[in-house]
Amino acid sequence: MSKPTISFEFFPPKTDEGLEKLLVVQQKLQAKNPKFFSVTYGAGGSTRERTWKTVEAVKAAGVDTAPHLSCVGQSREELTELINEYKAAGIKRIVTLRGDLPSGMGADQSDLRYADDLVKLIRDVSGDHFHLEVAAYPEMHPQARSFSDDIDHFKRKIDAGADSGITQYFYNAESYAYYMNELEKRGVTAPVYPGIMPVTNYTNLVRFSDACGADIPRWVRKKLEELQNDDASLKAFGEEVVTRLCERLLAMGAPGLHFYTMNQAAANLNVVENLGL
Ligand code: FAD
Repeated sequence: MSKPTISFEFFPPKTDEGLEKLLVVQQKLQAKNPKFFSVTYGAGGSTRERTWKTVEAVKAAGVDTAPHLSCVGQSREELTELINEYKAAGIKRIVTLRGDLPSGMGADQSDLRYADDLVKLIRDVSGDHFHLEVAAYPEMHPQARSFSDDIDHFKRKIDAGADSGITQYFYNAESYAYYMNELEKRGVTAPVYPGIMPVTNYTNLVRFSDACGADIPRWVRKKLEELQNDDASLKAFGEEVVTRLCERLLAMGAPGLHFYTMNQAAANLNVVENLGL
């Protein structure tokens, strides 16, 4: 089996000072030889310029850097223009998403409805130029009609031309095993990289997890609640939980790990070091 890969995700900072700080974080993470960095994209194109600026700055250090691109709230023309710009700039990889609708905007204002439509558009516009990652949900996307439907939709994205998946973060390793098994039954062999969210803050994690449908196991939630005012102990506990989760995922055959860094170095580096990656 080949050595597991790691990749790190950033969000685009709002200011130039923020970007300078991020580049310091990037340098620390780059020491771990990531396969790529990625930079998120605000739905409706709200961070179009900042995502692009951050991708260019991060990419300058020589590691493959992937913009995320979501199709919701944008026209086919706008998306085509951006795909062509990325290709011309030497970008080789795109994390290809639907995104979430900004409040007040209906799905019918978007030319493309789902991520598989965007995968098709990118393939139409640029052939095989890009490696396309798509989102996977081992605990089910919150808007899916059913779990089986959601897994079928992941297959649809691969059938449309996507190369691999990155999951929403989760803390139940068994959900990944089940998901991979279901994909295998459907004949999907594309690699799916678990998305890993380090635990560094109780309130933010609970708020974020409730919004995106990620389950925090009761015992972890209770322990984090208990430690919420003891930063060092909470981080140590979070590091242990996440390290064990990653160990299990790699033992199950996960091809690598994708870290939702939250633009922080330490919590991600500690886990990578614990794993000996
Ligand atoms: P899709 O794959 O299109 O699925 C969306 C929903 O529609 C699912 O419930 C699916 O089951 C259902 N569905 C799909 N196809 C059909 C169909 N044909 N008929 C009926 N139902 C269908 N958000 C951002 O705004 N910016 C980012 O940069 C970003 N990065 C992300 C990175 C990763 C790795 C992940 C996992 C998520 C990311 N997100 C990001 C969040 C993501 O945009 C949301 O989860 C969004 O709600 C769904 O996007 P998707 O690409 O999974 O959509």
